[in-house]
Amino acid sequence: MIARTQGPWQTAPWQRQLAEAVSDPGELLEILELDPGLLGPARAASEAFRLKVPHSFLRRIRRGDPCDPLLRQVLPLGAELLVTPGFCRDPVGDMAARATAGVLHKYRGRALLMVTGACAVHCRYCFRRHFPYGEASLPGRDPTAALDYLRAGTDIREVILSGGDPLAVPDPRLSWLSERFDDIPHLQRLRIHSRLPVMIPERVDGSLLAWLGRSRLRPVLVVHINHPQEIDGPVQTALQRLKTAGVELLNQSVLLAGVNDDAQVLAELSEKLFDNCVLPYYLHLLDRVQGAAHFEVKEPRALELYGRLRAMVSGYLLPRLVREQPGAPSKLPLLPG
Ligand code: SF4
Repeated sequence: MIARTQGPWQTAPWQRQLAEAVSDPGELLEILELDPGLLGPARAASEAFRLKVPHSFLRRIRRGDPCDPLLRQVLPLGAELLVTPGFCRDPVGDMAARATAGVLHKYRGRALLMVTGACAVHCRYCFRRHFPYGEASLPGRDPTAALDYLRAGTDIREVILSGGDPLAVPDPRLSWLSERFDDIPHLQRLRIHSRLPVMIPERVDGSLLAWLGRSRLRPVLVVHINHPQEIDGPVQTALQRLKTAGVELLNQSVLLAGVNDDAQVLAELSEKLFDNCVLPYYLHLLDRVQGAAHFEVKEPRALELYGRLRAMVSGYLLPRLVREQPGAPSKLPLLPG
């Protein structure tokens, strides 16, 4: 049997799925058999921050249920247009952390490359929903300044690929970048923050695993899963393939009202993550970005939920409950220890 390889002129199945993601609110409501009365607010909110959901994620959403926890993450609502005091466009201080074109440097020993502004999904609570990717992400053709910055920062041990979603970038480009990182002796780890293995599990294909496997740097993939319902069979297969390829898998979730603000759901998520080779890493309080106030779980309630979660799971299945504060030297844990 002759193995089929993919030439540079071909489009990978995941790229076709990315291109076919639903971006029209009317189509979304029709597919999910939802009340057409939701259309007006959804259209208005998606003008400010476009709707985007891949079909593979839509298949995990219950039909006809406006409260489905996966739907809540992607459905534009009129509440996004309210201006809420205490919420802003750059809640984590990204703009102040720009070190050079395409690089954010907040914490010691790690630097973050904004390799793209594209994502497989537009999460309605996204802390970067107002981020000016055009001016602040890695220029498509010339990452020289970013690579020079990494080379000059001899205390940088870990390079983080972020965005947007770095795995929205085609593999030849990522592979090329990875080879440049290999040549920088003080870099030890390559961390990738991505929702793509969850949104479009077919993203974890031979081509991705091949360049990851060639990297001199130790690969760490931080996925972003908020609810156990997100983990279906294809996602399990993708996670297993990554693990088998030697990738360390961690998860970060955001505590979101109406999605996962329930200790039982969080416990189930931790168990299911571990069953699929992923360690729960962070449970973030919502970053207070303008347009997402309706997702906020206030700190006293978050602490109460966390206390209940602590009593339900083994210590190693307990994610760290943190918030990000602009200018702080690390994420801030809500509880010491
Ligand atoms: S995948 Fe990440 S960067 Fe993209 S919209 Fe969702 S939270 Fe934001």
